[in-house]
Amino acid sequence: MEGSLTARDRVGLQDFVLLEAYTSESAFLENLRKRFHENLIYTYIGTLLVSVNPYKELGIYTKKQMDIYMGVNLFELPPHIYALADNVYRTMLTESNNHFILISGESGAGKTEASKKILQFYAVSCPSTKLMDNVRDRLLLSNPVLEAFGNAKTLKNDNSSRFGKYMDIQFDHVGGAVGGHILSYLLEKSRVVHQNHGERNFHIFYQLVEGGEEDLLRWLGLQRNCQQYSYLVQGECAKVSSINDKTDWKTVRKALTVIEFSESNVESLFAIIASVLHLGNVKFIADSRGYATLNSSPEIHWLSKLLGIPTQVIQVGLTHRKIAARSEEVLSPFTIDHAVYARDALAKAIYGRTFTWLVNMLNESLANKDSSRKTVIGLLDIYGFEVFNVNSFEQFCINYCNEKLQQLFIQLTLKSEQEEYEMEGIEWEPVPYFNNKIICDLVEEKFKGIIAVLDEECLRPGEATDMTFLEKLEEKMAGHPHFITCSELSLDHVLTIFHLQVMRQSKNAIVQLCFPTTEPDSKKRPETVATQFKSSLVGLTEILMSKEPWYVRCIKPNEGKQPGSFDDVLVRHQVKYLGLMEHLRVRRAGFAYRRRYQIFLQRYKPLCPDTWPNWKGTAAEGVQCLVKHLGFKPDEYKMGRTKIFIRHPRTLFATEDAFEV
Ligand code: ATP
Ligand code: MG
Repeated sequence: MEGSLTARDRVGLQDFVLLEAYTSESAFLENLRKRFHENLIYTYIGTLLVSVNPYKELGIYTKKQMDIYMGVNLFELPPHIYALADNVYRTMLTESNNHFILISGESGAGKTEASKKILQFYAVSCPSTKLMDNVRDRLLLSNPVLEAFGNAKTLKNDNSSRFGKYMDIQFDHVGGAVGGHILSYLLEKSRVVHQNHGERNFHIFYQLVEGGEEDLLRWLGLQRNCQQYSYLVQGECAKVSSINDKTDWKTVRKALTVIEFSESNVESLFAIIASVLHLGNVKFIADSRGYATLNSSPEIHWLSKLLGIPTQVIQVGLTHRKIAARSEEVLSPFTIDHAVYARDALAKAIYGRTFTWLVNMLNESLANKDSSRKTVIGLLDIYGFEVFNVNSFEQFCINYCNEKLQQLFIQLTLKSEQEEYEMEGIEWEPVPYFNNKIICDLVEEKFKGIIAVLDEECLRPGEATDMTFLEKLEEKMAGHPHFITCSELSLDHVLTIFHLQVMRQSKNAIVQLCFPTTEPDSKKRPETVATQFKSSLVGLTEILMSKEPWYVRCIKPNEGKQPGSFDDVLVRHQVKYLGLMEHLRVRRAGFAYRRRYQIFLQRYKPLCPDTWPNWKGTAAEGVQCLVKHLGFKPDEYKMGRTKIFIRHPRTLFATEDAFEV
């Protein structure tokens, strides 16, 4: 237990808000380290949960643990992800409103594991009927499917999510899970065609090749050997000791069945996955004029068979582009470089669209058709900040996304907290914090931001290059205190136009859906990837702004994926950029709990004879009368204009407990 003083010295404090001494960064780190070495990976800052990845099984996620945490107040037991999950759930039920849990942290910090733990907790703790069990199984099984197609081994994490995920769990009025919905953000498609040394392609490729049944592989024209496929071997690590592709394949196959993918959909899906592998093996040689010609008849044969597109069409499509010249369209042959680029762009487009299709299918399966009122808990598991030696367009988007979420955190927590104290006339020492709005603006501002400049450059195909883009940025952003540069643009759509037409002839059912003939054609300029991403983030921000926020901040203790090792420098860095000290300062200075006078009075008036049953004066006076009767000490609460503010939730729990006496 964490009660006695000696135990406390050893295991540190379970809530940073509680102790006077814990205001410096070093003391904060010290507390985290102490707890980490005692296998206590969770610590609160008020209601925010800090989690340090233990990189080992701790035996703290059992059914017994779940039972312990069900229906217990947040601060009554040692911190746990279940306690947070339970608290969110019960708040949702009593207040009938919507919530979200933002899980953040860098790659490998434990975000996806945390989101799975929360989901598992709900799966066990929520009321259950046959229908609900069905929803529950689908929610749980959507994870292995999404992970197979959207996760990969990277240098930082053997199971790294290469897309952002927001999942809504819908509950009916008695708290049964009745549906769900998933939004996915910016899958890292470049991984399909290129992997850095020590990294892999998406898990599903290896699962299929290693685990796929003999007849399936034969039907797909695949050999049981990853080394055969150029898209699988660039990172030179097709085998990973922590991953069992064979068993994972079985899990995914089973999951697809439970989620009710039809056999024909499953066939079409793996036909596409196999096509991507065949496409990666397509080779070109130069003809006498230096143009690309195909040197890969087996691959073309399989592509034609699996996608249901005539070989001739595929051959022309892979070696030519269509150019609109006056009234007619002319085929212009590719050089080898262009052909390789276009082949890879096609592979990325096929995979990316199939992933979107997959998410849509999961959503259909999770959809709740009845229209009765539901409340939701959203789980946001989004990729953390990433900085590599070479950073591409994807890192730019990922880091921009993190800046947006930090901005949301600031608005919802730091800024709104301070503004509320001001509005309520509560005496308050403002806490300084870095407002990253200036960085979000730098990226997204209309006409002036980096994305706007990028869009402008994309309007000049043929003329614009990485260099002209960079020059424009340097010209426009000169003198901006936070100017950052970005290289490598995504001009994929320029080269894939012809391919889209080829793909529209496909007989593969999923490809037909992914490349519809009604799609806006090349004459209408498509939105750039960056602008699409920006819009999707605006949408996400709106979804989140309408809900009550909860936070899990995940910390990675070392770079080596090692249990028991706590790297001070690395952790200090994360504590800093996750804004934990700022959050702590606001929390310590502030009041954890607040309620409108009417609501507070309504709830607690039975505890005081002067207010029960009918209070005659104003609600504020009633509350004053109540807290006097309950014996709140003067420094424990403050009376605002419309609300009562209570410094520590313990005070409130004691009040709740008074009901039971
Ligand atoms: P990314 O941003 O790359 O997706 P992530 O934050 O989602 O990273 P996870 O995949 O959740 O990271 O965790 C990485 C690995 O760390 C897991 O595969 C697991 O081995 C280990 N891990 C994370 N959390 C826990 C935990 N609570 N208990 C035991 N091991 C954990
Ligand atoms: Mg993850």
